[in-house]
Amino acid sequence: MNYKKTMAEYPELKGSDTVDFALVHKRDKDAALWKLLRQKVLDRTDNIDVWLSSRAQHLIQEPGSKIIRGVQIERDGKLLNIHANNGVVMTSGGFENNPELVQTYLHSVRLTPLGTLYNRGDGIHMVQEVGAKLWHMANYESHGILPGLTFKEGENERGRQIAWPLLSHGSIFVIADDGTRYFQEDAKHRHGHITTHGSWLIPMNNQHPYIVFDQAQYNDFKQQLDDEGRLPYPEFMDKLVKADTLPELANKLDVSAANLGQTVTDFNAYKAEGRDFAFGRNPESMRAFDGGPYYAIAAANDVLNTQGGPQRNENAEILGVDNKPIPHLYGAGELGGIVANCYQGGGNLAECLVFGKLAGEHAAVVKTDADVVDADEANGINDLADGENLSNVKLDADQYLGSSNAGLGGKVVVRLTYTGNKIQNVEVVQHHESEDAGLVAVSELPKEIVAANSTDVDAISGASASSRAIKEAVKDALGKAEAMHN
Ligand SMILES: Cc1cc2nc3c(=O)[nH]c(=O)nc-3n(C[C@H](O)[C@H](O)[C@H](O)COP(=O)(O)OP(=O)(O)OC[C@H]3O[C@@H](n4cnc5c(N)ncnc54)[C@H](O)[C@@H]3O)c2cc1C
Repeated sequence: MNYKKTMAEYPELKGSDTVDFALVHKRDKDAALWKLLRQKVLDRTDNIDVWLSSRAQHLIQEPGSKIIRGVQIERDGKLLNIHANNGVVMTSGGFENNPELVQTYLHSVRLTPLGTLYNRGDGIHMVQEVGAKLWHMANYESHGILPGLTFKEGENERGRQIAWPLLSHGSIFVIADDGTRYFQEDAKHRHGHITTHGSWLIPMNNQHPYIVFDQAQYNDFKQQLDDEGRLPYPEFMDKLVKADTLPELANKLDVSAANLGQTVTDFNAYKAEGRDFAFGRNPESMRAFDGGPYYAIAAANDVLNTQGGPQRNENAEILGVDNKPIPHLYGAGELGGIVANCYQGGGNLAECLVFGKLAGEHAAVVKTDADVVDADEANGINDLADGENLSNVKLDADQYLGSSNAGLGGKVVVRLTYTGNKIQNVEVVQHHESEDAGLVAVSELPKEIVAANSTDVDAISGASASSRAIKEAVKDALGKAEAMHN
């Protein structure tokens, strides 16, 4: 057996053989990494300040240079501007507790968090204010009790992660808001993603999904309770909705009775046929529904953690919408994680460590900012006004400049070569005319003026304003030439 390959959640992906487990010691699930890191911070108390209950609100960015100079933090009801000599590292985690961001990016009215209740996507708003480019916003991970689902809890309560075979084996299935089944309940999932026509996706989000089962399944749950003294989800029995008939259950769940009835009929037929024609559930895991009573328990779409946030490069520098690093701004952890869709389990903590180290090292480098234009240095630049300056147009003997503001795009400037009372040459040296007929006038009209030795020529069709401006500019230059010759 290839040990490393079995470590990867997506073994089919390129590079998956590099996925491995790294443990702090030969046990897991005892928070050893957290305790180790926490102690290392405490060991450096002389050099590291730690502020709790201090919510960062905004990054402080220098206009012009775009350098991040610090962070504005609310602490004890006061707003404090904290200066950063060389860099700020954004590590404020995900946005799973921000309903607006969840709705916008994850297509759900509400996802029940399985982890922290405090990550509200502040970092996303902060980096947006300074022009960062966002990536991977639509990707998140899930776990729960079934792919993408946990039991429904109250507002601001965490969801549970429970492996419980009876939830997907027997006369039991999950219904969507319309009372129909919508995924393979016994599917192998990868952080909540199941194969959907060849792609790994979290089953669609619903507002009030339910797990529905019959009396025989209830008896199995009851048996487990009697045998083990408690169920994996102790509140299970208390939260059940019970009804004698399917229409009555549908009514209690506020779903279509016709859909629920048909779904049970289909489920039973698939079992009899030996094949789940709808979703490919293993028929061995299916038992036909009996005559009731029937039961349901409310489920909820859950989220383990989000991945989206500001894009960062290999130096942990956060990029702006122009793909260039925003000076002095760095990122690590799941705020802008590198996972686009297929999350190799364990990768989140790995990138906390890897990008945390990179970000810290780069942020600590003393900056000279020689390559960043400072706002003061940029003052006084006026490309528009500079374009009006004609001092850089070279003039030989017998050459004269003329200009007109009558062009469609504004100023038109010509260089006239004039000897022996004859127009020898006309060059348009500055113009802002349109790319179609205007450009024809710019290239053709000077030739006609030279041939006629006069500005009394026909305008170029469709470019009367440009033609008029060129003729006016030539007349202006002719005036200067004649003044020289008289
Ligand atoms: C139940 C569960 C199990 C998991 N298991 C694994 C696993 O086995 N392996 C793995 O690799 N990953 C796992 N993950 C994912 C992994 O834990 C996270 O991706 C990782 O902890 C993210 O770390 P972070 O430092 O980026 O963000 P977080 O740990 O979320 O820390 C962000 C911090 O920023 C704070 N914060 C937020 N906003 C502000 C603000 N405005 N001002 C100041 N502070 C702010 C928050 O309070 C929080 O303390 C799991 C996640 C969960 C929920």
